[in-house]
Amino acid sequence: MTTVFDFTVRAIACINCGAPQQVPPGGGTVECSHCRSTLVIEPRRHEAALPERPPLPAAAYDLQGFLRSSGMDGKPWSESLPVFRAMWDEARRHPEHEDGVPLFGATLMLATGYGAQGDQPSRRAVLETAVELLPDRGHRCIVRCHLARAANRLGEREAARAWLAQCDPRGLAEVVADEIRVSEASLANGRGDHARVVELVPPAARATGASASLGAQLRIDSLEHLGRDAEARAELAIAIERHGAEVVLGWMAVNELAPRTRAAYAAPPRARMPTPIVVVLLLVLAGGVVAWVVTSIGS
Ligand SMILES: [Zn+2]
Repeated sequence: MTTVFDFTVRAIACINCGAPQQVPPGGGTVECSHCRSTLVIEPRRHEAALPERPPLPAAAYDLQGFLRSSGMDGKPWSESLPVFRAMWDEARRHPEHEDGVPLFGATLMLATGYGAQGDQPSRRAVLETAVELLPDRGHRCIVRCHLARAANRLGEREAARAWLAQCDPRGLAEVVADEIRVSEASLANGRGDHARVVELVPPAARATGASASLGAQLRIDSLEHLGRDAEARAELAIAIERHGAEVVLGWMAVNELAPRTRAAYAAPPRARMPTPIVVVLLLVLAGGVVAWVVTSIGS
């Protein structure tokens, strides 16, 4: 039985209609099961056999920048998904254009949209198609990280490991290495190795890069699993301050991460016991008043 993200099978999007298609790893001529057009497929490309190119600047990996330039920032999927689909259809025909940045951006947005809609086969097909077309190794690596995390999310641990094993951080930009590390943390979190997650992801206050928010969420969940609730709560407050409550709490709820810590954050302040620092502060203030009274009487 194969799984959605099974690494040993090959699934790409039909160049004509975009429907996900299983194709032979060795390539050949196949008929699209959806639109019946004839697809001539090249053999699957293996990372080790591809030529190394000069590294791209960090801006080439800036997904937020891509989203802003698309004009779709903050738009609902019902509106943005057809736009990303059209951008992707165009970009896959010219994968070398602008070093593959448009294909990279459209791929991740489209795949995220499919994921949000629960359409996992389409999500896999656009990601794998892009892995085979993107000219930059860093871009391919980040797309493989997305395949690994999507597989992990479905509990397909073996597939997740296989996709991530294709990523070698050596010689790649820091932002790509960060993404790989957070993906390793995601897999460790999935298999319940919470000590490893805390080791891989730096505390929220020190985390940088596009994957900092995801890293913080995983770390908070793993701290909670390790019974380090106070640290988990402190890091949640920092993550919310840095990335916004809607993003952090929204994703954590979707991924069912750190339920106790989220509940503690959502609880109304009245319902909470005063924290030790507040108690100490009140005692100091009360002591100050007593001292002032004593001094006044004495003078
Ligand atoms: Zn088709």
